Amino acid sequence: MSATLRLPGKVCIITGAGAGIGLETALVFAQEGAHVVAADINEQAAQRTVETIQKQVNGAAKAIAVKCDVSKEAEIKAMVAKAVEEFGKLDVIFNNAGIMHPQDDNALNTEERIWDLTMNSANLKGVWWGCKYAIEAMLKNPKGGSIINTASFVALMGAATPQLAYTASKGAVLAMTRELAMVHARDGIRLNSLCPGPLKTELLMSFLDTPEKKERRMVHIPMGRFGEAVEQAKAALFLASDDSSFITGTDFKVDGGISGCYVTPL
Ligand code: NAD
Repeated sequence: MSATLRLPGKVCIITGAGAGIGLETALVFAQEGAHVVAADINEQAAQRTVETIQKQVNGAAKAIAVKCDVSKEAEIKAMVAKAVEEFGKLDVIFNNAGIMHPQDDNALNTEERIWDLTMNSANLKGVWWGCKYAIEAMLKNPKGGSIINTASFVALMGAATPQLAYTASKGAVLAMTRELAMVHARDGIRLNSLCPGPLKTELLMSFLDTPEKKERRMVHIPMGRFGEAVEQAKAALFLASDDSSFITGTDFKVDGGISGCYVTPL
């Protein structure tokens, strides 16, 4: 295996690996020598990711697809067990799967069931369980591990186009990740949050389904474009690899400058 690979032989679980950020991350990790466990609620989509890896990536990397609904604890437990059974250990988990409900709104209009669905599903409880079972496996790994949890730039700044439950769930991901990073700092387990800016993925584009909705956001993005999923994948690669060996507990922003911006360029 080439010494220049950044994840040589590392066993990496990626949730939501069937599309968007998760799909691109699975490809990038495999290209860097990782053994990838591509997990998704959509089994066919996870399988397609594995087939793409097999077609596009030459080398020693292996990949398997796992059906996992991260809103179900038993399925997360089984996903981690499968990774360890197949590859002997766990080095990295990217708790990336998330949902954005179209009826998520402001304090007055958001229904309790939408709030509960968002909090109890992929966005928060699933991230906790992903951390829980990964930590359990990584404590047995002499080299520890790296856990990356997908939050969002909306966890850091307010938006007058509200999605209250989504925003609250992502803020909670930042707080939870930071705390777990401190708890496990001396176990060799690093935890970081990834805060993507608005991206050209299915998740956001199906939500911003008119030119007006897109423009309402675009004016606030200093770089004048939505991000690409692969740009998040490359940040996840950095956080997964030993290149970030002294980085833990961060809110890692990959947002085209949006969270630092007052006035955008003309
Ligand atoms: P996407 O919709 O393109 O892909 C999400 C994948 O997750 C899909 O394959 C879907 O089947 C899977 N998934 C959904 N619910 C699941 C569940 N319960 N269990 C397992 N898999 C499930 O989304 P994306 O844009 O790649 O977003 C990935 C993450 O990035 C999410 O956590 C999202 O909140 C976050 N994020 C996205 C943006 C953006 O602009 N797209 C911005 C900030 C943060």
